[in-house]
Amino acid sequence: MATIGVLGLQGAISEHVSQIEATGQTAVIVKHADQLAEIDGLVLPGGESTTMQKLMDRYDFIEPILQFAKQGKPIFGTCAGMVLLAKKVSGSDNPHLQLIDIEVCRNAFGRQRESFEAAITINGLVKEFNAIFIRAPYAENAGVEVEILATYEGKIVVAKQGNILVSAFHPELTDDTRLMQYFNAMVEQTIKTKVEV
Ligand code: GLN
Repeated sequence: MATIGVLGLQGAISEHVSQIEATGQTAVIVKHADQLAEIDGLVLPGGESTTMQKLMDRYDFIEPILQFAKQGKPIFGTCAGMVLLAKKVSGSDNPHLQLIDIEVCRNAFGRQRESFEAAITINGLVKEFNAIFIRAPYAENAGVEVEILATYEGKIVVAKQGNILVSAFHPELTDDTRLMQYFNAMVEQTIKTKVEV
């Protein structure tokens, strides 16, 4: 069993905790950077990326999260979390963690569709995932090392690069745990590799 942290500064924290627990893993709300040492994987939840960015700066999370990623530990960013992990954010010269080589547009699906649901295919994983988009970003392009796992209307909405996974929608707001389980498998693989070394 793995221990998965949810960055507990702002956003859909308790929903992620419930989904992690529903998949049989232990969830921890991470409010201090020193808690990163106790967890095997980290979720950056949806919320408001600009607010989260400020709070991450204020509570000195940036360097510890970069170190966490450098150790090979998986990070899953959903919605605002995807924005925080992106290498580039369109129209901003202040990207944050820059751990996945994608360029994201914030609030990208237009006003009249700020929130909507769509059935999307996640390659190799799910044929129809009921994806809930709430003022969601998308990635317009991705570097060669990025695996594009799902697109919607030609835009990248799920992607993975090494130990970093991002989704533009909110998997934690559905009962469908398959994307969370995919992340759990990434985390378990890291734990196994560490034990084998
Ligand atoms: N629009 C938000 C942002 O860019 C993300 C919305 C969400 O996480 N649901 O911060």
